[in-house]
Amino acid sequence: MERDIITAVETLRGQTVDWLSQLIEKPSLLGDEASAQTWVAEQFAALGLDVTDLVIDEAAIREHPGYSPSLISYDGRVNVIGHHRPKQTRGRSLIFNGHIDVVPVGDASLWTRPPFEAWVDGDRLYGRGGADMKSGIIAYLIAFKALQKLGYAPAAEVILQSVVEEECTGNGALACLVAGYSADAAIITEPTNNGVMSCQMGVMWLTVEIEGHPAHAAVASEGFSAVDMAMKLFEALKQREAHWNEPENRHHCYTHSHKPINFNLGKIEGGEWASSVPTRCRLDIRVGFYPGRTTEEVRSELEACIQDAFEAHPAHGDAQYRVRYQGFQAEGCEVDMNTPMVKSLQAAHLDVIGTNPGQFTFTGTTDARFFNLYGGIPATCYGATGGNIHGIDEWVSIDSVVDAAKVLAVFMARWCELEPLNPA
Ligand SMILES: [Zn+2]
Repeated sequence: MERDIITAVETLRGQTVDWLSQLIEKPSLLGDEASAQTWVAEQFAALGLDVTDLVIDEAAIREHPGYSPSLISYDGRVNVIGHHRPKQTRGRSLIFNGHIDVVPVGDASLWTRPPFEAWVDGDRLYGRGGADMKSGIIAYLIAFKALQKLGYAPAAEVILQSVVEEECTGNGALACLVAGYSADAAIITEPTNNGVMSCQMGVMWLTVEIEGHPAHAAVASEGFSAVDMAMKLFEALKQREAHWNEPENRHHCYTHSHKPINFNLGKIEGGEWASSVPTRCRLDIRVGFYPGRTTEEVRSELEACIQDAFEAHPAHGDAQYRVRYQGFQAEGCEVDMNTPMVKSLQAAHLDVIGTNPGQFTFTGTTDARFFNLYGGIPATCYGATGGNIHGIDEWVSIDSVVDAAKVLAVFMARWCELEPLNPA
């Protein structure tokens, strides 16, 4: 039977490439997810699933400890859920979760072809979101379809989720949890290089706004530059980054990582023109922090660091600053690698691929935290292999998507057990 499942996925290879190309070509940048979500809803319906557009009610999630202040309104932006209910439950229930949102393309002129044009070169399929993580949504769709092709369906509830805002808040996945979607396990089909994720970082976004004291550049010392101050403050934060990366300060999951903690100055805005001492400067910063630390703890450490650097700057007298938090306020989490779900997923990978899956130690965040930290649902990430994720010319290995779909299909058959679609 499992041989048949693997073969069925293999015969869907062309469909895999077609579907993934179609989904890449529905640009789903923040706020613009609708056309891609409509496409996913159509696929769910075609698989015979009950389809729900889950509207995100911010009032319902705002008080949740996993909530992150959102960047834009949720009007017209839904999660899409495809729900399979068996005729008779025999196995364990399962959530497959993927995020539909993709990150900004950067300078589009640097791409070999337009970022939302899907194109194939050998085993590589290029396009923004192809790896992260439309590959994962396609992999679970193909896994489900392969079982159907063989005349079977899972003998347990399976909930397929396509959520918004994984890349900046996680509020899409949080809304699903708060709405009550639950199962015996969840797999987020992020591109993990076909490994099983063992831990993920905490991630926090903060904005620092500095107000200086303008003056003519010819008498610059009569003013106080907001941009100079911004540089000083970020320098102090980078020292904190180095401190957290020191071997003795590391979380045990990240002992062997190259550089687990990353503070990224993702965006800077400031000043008026070359001949005036700048009045204002704004820094948008992303900070990574270890699992086990609370967001409150991290905030107070960062704020103290910024305050010290501010005080240490000569003649800061007239200047002011404030720190705001918008976007990710995401705690890190460790995955329990001894749960039956992880063991079963590793076994499925070994049996399908022939080697033990690697462990994926992630230095970013994923939606797995909601299931693990707040839902009591064992969750990990498992999915395809890609490159240039969040960069230029993002690509995914087609073989790796097909492999992931095979593993997910075999896992689903074992975890949920199977029942015939049309009993004789
Ligand atoms: Zn992702």
